[in-house]
Amino acid sequence: MRSPPSPLTVLKRELRSLSLPNKRALLRWLQSQITKEEEQNANREMISSQVGREVIQEQRIGKTVYRQERIRCGKPGCKCMAGELHGPYWYSYCREGGKVRSQYIGKTLKTEGELQGSC
Ligand SMILES: [Zn+2]
Repeated sequence: MRSPPSPLTVLKRELRSLSLPNKRALLRWLQSQITKEEEQNANREMISSQVGREVIQEQRIGKTVYRQERIRCGKPGCKCMAGELHGPYWYSYCREGGKVRSQYIGKTLKTEGELQGSC
């Protein structure tokens, strides 16, 4: 018994009969799909919260995510280990060269004008 061909195999067989301009158009379309999906994945990754942090609220300005969090510092015997977290404090998160950079802002979030270029 043969297993059914994968969707990609079926697709390839059909695509072979496409004209060259259509193949080029398909390639461009595929490229844009990939770019879009990669951007979405990057954003999703950026939004995921860190372990030991409780997110109170979140705000996005451009490519930067501002997040108000309560922190568990992890020091043994600290009040946060008993559930009394520190903060809340504001942090900014942005993606730079494939890495997420976080920055401590403080107890209050600045105005949108002040936040420009904070990342
Ligand atoms: Zn603590």
